[in-house]
Amino acid sequence: MDTPSQTKKLFDAVLFREIWKAMKVTFKHMFHRPMTFEYPREKRTIPDAHRGALGLLCYDDGRERCVGCDLCEAACPSRCIKVISEEDKSMPLQRYATEFYIDITKCVFCGYCVEACPVNALAMTKMYEYSTPDKRTLLFDKRRLYEIGEQHIEDAKKYLYAHNQEEDDDESRAYRYHFPQPVGKAEVSDS
Ligand code: SF4
Ligand code: SF4
Repeated sequence: MDTPSQTKKLFDAVLFREIWKAMKVTFKHMFHRPMTFEYPREKRTIPDAHRGALGLLCYDDGRERCVGCDLCEAACPSRCIKVISEEDKSMPLQRYATEFYIDITKCVFCGYCVEACPVNALAMTKMYEYSTPDKRTLLFDKRRLYEIGEQHIEDAKKYLYAHNQEEDDDESRAYRYHFPQPVGKAEVSDS
């Protein structure tokens, strides 16, 4: 026996109603801005606060900022940082990192190590394209970390500004803690 719902179904089938509904959705999206990028040809703008690969930073005169205090290693919840340090013979009481490793495969990009560093020697960058078939190359050593820091110095500084760890003005830079310098050595500018 014919019922109203069967009649409706018959009309829907004859008029291709479902197809027209689907076409309506398709046409509507033709006038929307695309939500996807054709990566790697197109790349999206990365915000300054982005937590990408870590890098070690130098002062403007090329001197390493890291004093090997181990605070980043202590703060790391993933235990992926290893710092080995010794006293700088030319500057008594001052230490420096002889070796520095970050196993980036274990890093959860929390940023705690950057926050723990008293001299802003560590920062995160916008670098994210370092996938590799060889996992061993993702154990970043001191040389690699300073290389990343040098290549991405501007982004690293923007990261520190964005996270309120370093203000972009001379007064704040002067306020930041500087480890004791030997008598006669000029104060380093790190703007
Ligand atoms: S970002 Fe977090 S997990 Fe990664 S090295 Fe720093 S403290 Fe460890
Ligand atoms: S990066 Fe900073 S916290 Fe880590 S050992 Fe060097 S000075 Fe200390």
